[in-house]
Amino acid sequence: MTKTPPVQTLSSSLSDLAARVAELEAEREMTLRLAQTDSLTGLVNRGAFTGSLCERLEAARETGASVALFIIDLDRFKNLNDTLGHHAGDMLLAELGQRLRDETGPGEMAARLGGDEFALITADDDIVARAERLVALLSQPHDIYGRTVSPGGSVGVAVFPRDAQDAADLQRHADQALYRAKSAGGRRWSSFDEDLREEGVRRRTLEDELRRAIPAGEIVPWFQPIVESMTGAMVGVEVLARWNHPERGLVSPAHFVPMAEELGLIRAIDEAIFEAACARTAPWVAEGLIEVVSCNVSPRDLLDPAFSRKLIGRLAKTALPATALTVEITETFLLQDMALARRHIERLAAKGVNVALDDFGTGYSNLRALMHLPIQTVKLDRSLIDDVGRDARVSKLVASMLHAARSLGVRIIAEGVEHEGQALFLRSAGCDRMQGYFFARPMPGDAMEAMLREANAPKPRVAIAG
Ligand code: C2E
Ligand code: CA
Ligand code: CA
Repeated sequence: MTKTPPVQTLSSSLSDLAARVAELEAEREMTLRLAQTDSLTGLVNRGAFTGSLCERLEAARETGASVALFIIDLDRFKNLNDTLGHHAGDMLLAELGQRLRDETGPGEMAARLGGDEFALITADDDIVARAERLVALLSQPHDIYGRTVSPGGSVGVAVFPRDAQDAADLQRHADQALYRAKSAGGRRWSSFDEDLREEGVRRRTLEDELRRAIPAGEIVPWFQPIVESMTGAMVGVEVLARWNHPERGLVSPAHFVPMAEELGLIRAIDEAIFEAACARTAPWVAEGLIEVVSCNVSPRDLLDPAFSRKLIGRLAKTALPATALTVEITETFLLQDMALARRHIERLAAKGVNVALDDFGTGYSNLRALMHLPIQTVKLDRSLIDDVGRDARVSKLVASMLHAARSLGVRIIAEGVEHEGQALFLRSAGCDRMQGYFFARPMPGDAMEAMLREANAPKPRVAIAG
């Protein structure tokens, strides 16, 4: 026979149960909150932000309200992170998170989207005043380890439903506005408008075309000679990508390389160019017309730990000897991952492939990197060469760079030599090789081959009748 528990016990076990349920509920909420929170700043994280933005737009669609999305990005965060260290960078982000939280009113939401990118969702009342306040907030100095840093930041804003109909477009458009603010020098804000809309459409068309251009073989190698300073002889070529667009004509890599990097297409482009360039230049090397073929690789390619192994594999399938190949890498990559850079460079050097440091003089110009890595060639950036012979201080700087490089046993190639004056100065300062419009502009393979043959042809002798 079952006994009915006394009412007293029943109600106490019920209240126990209720307490337990509340506890579980609180735990669940806590877990949920943690999953939605960025641990560094305590702000909402990207995942939760995206969900919440969609919900807010749905609600606004029903009530006919506007929603403004501000995307906020520090201007020189990477720089700061590199110089002061990651811990200082984290402190700065945490402080900025706090400032943004203080700035966030009821019904608004601040989030950290990742890295140094933040977002603020507000009802659209006065976006101008708000954007200006955000820029001012980003410009306030921070005290990090007793040092005052003021990285400054930029803001892009787009408004629903004026600028976009859904969350993805709203974010993309705010990003576009942010990008414009940054390109204009930073520490400012920009709002999405018709110009950006048109630019976006143009860009998307170009992106679609770029995806098709690679398999269609529209991206081809062009060549620019590298000249020996002392003799004027063409000793090598740099391979430069060109996009032979069926309607737009020749598109500069300055346009499509950054786009290809963003779209993840740069590896396919570099591989296609590499293959075509090796096939084209191998006979020139075999005939002794040139010694060096110099190829550009994107820092994105280099982040692949298998990059050097794959390159060596691909090179082996061509007729180009490894010792004739130079791979041009930029300093940005060296600084991103020194250990990986070393592995790639050593692996390539072991096969006889030379590595050149491109665009030297634009960034940190880390001579230390040179001393610790087997890099034998440095390409002095055009921006330095521009002022050589014109600005006494730049001339002095370049001369001392050449001197330092020589003492390290590093070969220097000056890029962007456009005038005789520059060439004469560089030669007298001990620059080994040069490249630039003064000697020749980049040109298609046929023209390059013709020029090399012409330069190597035996000079006709004047027959002296006797
Ligand atoms: P870069 O490697 O610094 O290449 C040198 C750039 O300077 C080339 O621009 C060349 O045409 C230009 N140049 C050469 N001499 C002179 C001169 O005397 N005066 C002036 N004003 N310019 C000169 P280009 O061909 O437009 O290439 C731009 C950049 O695109 C390259 O800069 C390189 O970073 C990238 N790039 C080119 N081809 C490839 C490629 O196949 N793969 C990758 N990943 N990047 C490439
Ligand atoms: Ca280059
Ligand atoms: Ca360069």
